[in-house]
This record gives sequence, structure tokens and C-alpha cells, in this order.
Amino acid sequence: SVNPQPIHFAERIEAIREVLHTGAGSSVQLAFDIDRNVWPIRADVSELETGLLNLVINARDAMPDGGTVTVSARNVVLSETLHAGEFVAISVADTGLGIPSDVVDKIFEPFFTTKPIGKGTGLGLSQVHGFAHQAGGTVKVESELGKGTTFTILLPRETAEPR
Ligand code: ADP
Ligand code: MG
Repeated sequence: SVNPQPIHFAERIEAIREVLHTGAGSSVQLAFDIDRNVWPIRADVSELETGLLNLVINARDAMPDGGTVTVSARNVVLSETLHAGEFVAISVADTGLGIPSDVVDKIFEPFFTTKPIGKGTGLGLSQVHGFAHQAGGTVKVESELGKGTTFTILLPRETAEPR
């Protein structure tokens, strides 16, 4: 069951560095660029960690010839219709193959995969999408063929008032 709790991401990331390194494997570099002053957020910790691991594994899979995956976090203020206000943006960026435009519209659908049978379940990004929306946020993707892909999970700043 989902158990949202306050998270200080700059501290929490220390506890999952090792599991993310395992997900990245030995063929790609894993870098961190975490703003120490990111606002507290409120989310299910294990769902957040599962989501980050799914994104790092996808990044590794997109870099068959090696490359760098960078996990970053920063504060952002959004003025979008659906998502306005203070958010923490947690990004996983790779220097991989990129996502073709006819594929990118389907990637968040459960069971959508371009990987061979046995290699992909098509459930990773569906989990990330479900988690982000459950936590009151969203997830965005920017991709350029041959350059790489960045997934950004946007989670609302935790406020003092109970919801
Ligand atoms: P799976 O990894 O099991 O295929 P996901 O839901 O994690 O399922 O991803 C769905 C699809 O989205 C992948 O099969 C791949 O085509 C595409 N994808 C996801 N992340 C990336 C990435 N970082 N670079 C390129 N393509 C990606
Ligand atoms: Mg995946």
C-alpha cells in the first residue's frame, strides 16, 4: 500500500546511491548533481526509489556503447495550468540512443516495450508515471535521437499543513 511520508531528497539519495550504481552496471558512468537545498517533498519512499532505479536501468539499456547517466535534483517554480507552484525536479539524463517520435507517445503505457522478450516488461515507465501522479506531480520526457534522453519527475514541495 502507498505510504506517503516527508522526504529530504538530498539526504535520501545517499541511501540509494549503491542500488543505482548496481542498476547502471559497469559499462556506463553514473553521476550525481543534487542541490543540497532542495525542498522537502511528500511521497512513498519505496515507490520513489523503484522509479529512480527503473529510470537508471532504462538509461543503461539506451547506452549500448557506454555513456553517462546523471541523476540531478533542483527546485523549480512552475506556472502551468495543471501544475503550478513549487516543485522539486528529479531528473535522470542519459547520453544514449534517444527515443523515436512515434515511440515517445506510448512509453508510459503499461506493457509497452521495444526490448526483446525476456529483456523488458514494459512496466518501468508505467510505474514511474503512476508514482509521480499519485504523489501529486507529473513526469516529463525530453529526447533527441543520437544525443540522449532526460526524464524528469516533478514532485510538489511539502507544505506544513496536513492534506
Ligand atoms: P522496458 O524497459 O521494460 O521496455 P519501460 O516502461 O521502462 O519498459 O520503457 C518502455 C520503453 O520506453 C522502452 O522499451 C524503450 O523503448 C523506451 N525507453 C525508456 N527509457 C528510455 C531511454 N532512457 N532511452 C531510450 N528509450 C527509452
Ligand atoms: Mg524499463
